[in-house]
Amino acid sequence: WKNALPSLPDLARHARTTHPDRLFTIYEDERITYDAWFRATATLAAELARSGVKPGDRVALSMRNLPEWPVAFFAITSIGAIAVPLNAWWTGAELAYGLSDSGARALICDAERWERIAPVMGELPGLETVLVSRAKTPLAAPARRLEDVIGAPSGYGTLGDTDLPSMGLEPDTYATIFYTSGTTGHPKGALGTHRNILTNIFSSAYSGARTLARRGEVPPDPVPKTMLTVIPLFHVTACNAALMGAIFAGNTMVFMRKWDPVDAFRIIEREKVNVTGGVPTIAWQLIEHPDREKYDLSSLESIAYGGAPSAPDLVRKIRSVFGALPSNGWGMTETSATVTHHASEDYLNRPDSCGTPVAVSDIKIMSPDGTQELPVGEVGELWARGPQIVAGYWNNPEATAQTFIDGWVRTGDLARVDEEGFCYIVDRAKDIIIRGGENIYSSEVENVLYDHPAVTDAALVGIPHRTLGEEPAAVVHLAPGMSATEAELQDWVRQHLAAFKTPVRILFTRETLPRNANGKIIKSELKPMFDTEAAEAV
Ligand code: ATP
Ligand code: MG
Repeated sequence: WKNALPSLPDLARHARTTHPDRLFTIYEDERITYDAWFRATATLAAELARSGVKPGDRVALSMRNLPEWPVAFFAITSIGAIAVPLNAWWTGAELAYGLSDSGARALICDAERWERIAPVMGELPGLETVLVSRAKTPLAAPARRLEDVIGAPSGYGTLGDTDLPSMGLEPDTYATIFYTSGTTGHPKGALGTHRNILTNIFSSAYSGARTLARRGEVPPDPVPKTMLTVIPLFHVTACNAALMGAIFAGNTMVFMRKWDPVDAFRIIEREKVNVTGGVPTIAWQLIEHPDREKYDLSSLESIAYGGAPSAPDLVRKIRSVFGALPSNGWGMTETSATVTHHASEDYLNRPDSCGTPVAVSDIKIMSPDGTQELPVGEVGELWARGPQIVAGYWNNPEATAQTFIDGWVRTGDLARVDEEGFCYIVDRAKDIIIRGGENIYSSEVENVLYDHPAVTDAALVGIPHRTLGEEPAAVVHLAPGMSATEAELQDWVRQHLAAFKTPVRILFTRETLPRNANGKIIKSELKPMFDTEAAEAV
């Protein structure tokens, strides 16, 4: 038996053979077909090889969601080098960390990232080749313009018709280092293989078919979709799930320069977008925007998201507002993308679950010390297994040994699984609040707060207490025009949950809660709000 698609260049060839003339990417007025993308990718791959990039070398990639992103990604991985997508939100110092930690030999970036990286080049002696896209000013060596190699996107279709190099890549060849979001500590580089990434194509297609089958419907012929991809390609959800799935199916991906709900409405109307989402906050912003009804959004068929906890109410809202199919997926950088998937009626009936494992994955709930599998219904640490689990952490054998055990990854998430196999994430192990020996799981309290009509966003954090160790406290954001007092919300929580789970302090913020590029609330930034408050009270 031979893998149908052993490596990423095989996926690129599949796309160019089966749907060369379909539109692959739309960015502002730049429209690129699969054939044009393939030509640019093959041209860039040849240039990277010519400039000395060898199999196993790391090539960093740092830019907005631009059409040249998938060109660079497939050029790098097609010659057996390891693509290192760096968070485009990072500062110069953070980018320098990613470049030096990965030992990057080459970098492909946009002009905005180059402005941040150029000043720290002195710290990066190993970086020999730099290609910068969309530069408006002359570049200093070693930087060169990407357009000098592949031209501007509008001209990709006129590039020479060469194939990608045949490197004999194997499914287990290393392909990527994606950095974790750094929500709980320093970002770690997850070392993924060609197999890890390609598996996602099959797991998500299967999940869609299974959802229909559970409803007694026959899966339709796969019709190419138009997707509005607003989440960044430097995280696994957009790259390994959305992008790979699109290339396989021949979907069109629309990129936006910057996230803005009204721009999104305009694009959905103009391009008749069928699929959007990404992270829960994006879905909320589309639902709650006052101008939503001015646009024709009837083309929307599904809104898919994951990567961060979401309020249980979101699934019903999506159904009632858009009539679209809501879906939620759980995964982490270490799992390449989706491990559990949840959609449609199953999701509406269990709005606080993140679903069941995709076809190729297993999950189990383990005791905190990792020695015992726990029975149905008990909360413990979620472990996951399957062909998407990465090979380990780059450059970090201790963390690898602690996290990857006998083919399983310890996720650091606390969860339970019900009798039917649906998984419920209750907290991150690092965020759990232990008040005088009693466990308080953030999501339980946050979900009750979300249920209050005035609350649109909520986060529970632990604040230190001399004898109890920690106490729960909350930061909430109220819906425009709504009001609620601290005492009212505390009463509300007390009506629904045991008294010890009630936040002892609730702060209201005018700002939306701070989130990282993956839509996750950065709780470490919320805790100091209570210190300041205590200091002010004194
Ligand atoms: P770091 O590991 O550096 O602290 P991170 O864990 O936030 O950062 P990611 O790999 O981007 O980095 O995120 C994975 C985490 O996101 C999971 O461990 C889980 O806590 C959370 N998550 C992902 N999907 C969901 C979901 N559908 N529901 C709830 N939480 C989710
Ligand atoms: Mg993590």
